[in-house]
Amino acid sequence: MRCRKCPKKAIIYMPEHRLALCAACYSPWFLDHTERTIRKFKMFTRRDRILVAVSGGKDSLSLWHALHALGYEADGFYIDLGIMGSDHYSEQSKQRCRELSERIGRRLHIVRVAERVGAPIPEIKDLTAREACSACGLIKRYLMNRYALEADYDVIATGHNLDDEVAVLFSNVLHWNRGYLARQYPVLDEREGLKKKVKPFVYFTEKQTTVYALVNRIAYVRDECPYALGATTLSYKDLLAQLEHQAPGTKRRFLDGFYQIRALFAEPEAAALVPCSRCGQPTTAEVCAYCRLIEHVQRRRGLALAPADVNTSQSSLKQVLVSDSE
Ligand code: SF4
Ligand SMILES: [Zn+2]
Ligand SMILES: [Zn+2]
Repeated sequence: MRCRKCPKKAIIYMPEHRLALCAACYSPWFLDHTERTIRKFKMFTRRDRILVAVSGGKDSLSLWHALHALGYEADGFYIDLGIMGSDHYSEQSKQRCRELSERIGRRLHIVRVAERVGAPIPEIKDLTAREACSACGLIKRYLMNRYALEADYDVIATGHNLDDEVAVLFSNVLHWNRGYLARQYPVLDEREGLKKKVKPFVYFTEKQTTVYALVNRIAYVRDECPYALGATTLSYKDLLAQLEHQAPGTKRRFLDGFYQIRALFAEPEAAALVPCSRCGQPTTAEVCAYCRLIEHVQRRRGLALAPADVNTSQSSLKQVLVSDSE
């Protein structure tokens, strides 16, 4: 098959766009579509400072690379979860992020969960009754938001792709999770201490972000996190892939159709956010879930509370957080 834009051999055919492209024509197409999504949802401008949450995987590293290539001011933020496994998952992931940081000349901030919470994710899982992913998700959301606030970033960007978003939407519709449906959108505006969050890759399939990474020689971690349960999500992804195969464009139509009616799921009154009495970050309770998790972990470990995370003033928080940057 030939490239639609030049006589070279195509490396990818995208049936949903009825488009075949060669390696040379692929990146310009991909960047153009990224820019269109950013504008469509008014995600950010070239005056904004963007913090890209990078995990070492293909989606987030491609996003960082693409935003830099488009001329945006984008730095990376890596959370070292302390997950080893047989292939030293966290170490490898961090290394891939460092490599891209050096290559594009943008700053990579690294925060270690073991230092912030008092234990790495595998130990937190053992010390609490929570699943690894539940504790990990809570910690990542908290640290990302707090870092963006303290280091004065305007927006947090994540590499969620179309396959992720559609599988989550499918699951939320299947279980009528109204609260989650209300918040599933490529842009969540800043409010009461919560930084703006955006997903510029929301219209790209996993295959498209993989091809971007390969064409641009971005080294990424191919192994999944050893805690990735994924069984249910994977079965939804398989099901949706079959539907997409039969009728290309189904996933995009499903997602766009939902975005148009999403307002129906808006909660009449979102719970008011107040500053956590321990750390000052926004929460609906007196003490936020992150601080409660730290207390639990440190009580179980018989440690004294870490001054960096509990009962600290905002000015010293800034010092502590920014000192983690690399
Ligand atoms: S799979 Fe779970 S534990 Fe692993 S990085 Fe993702 S959320 Fe964290
Ligand atoms: Zn071409
Ligand atoms: Zn707190």
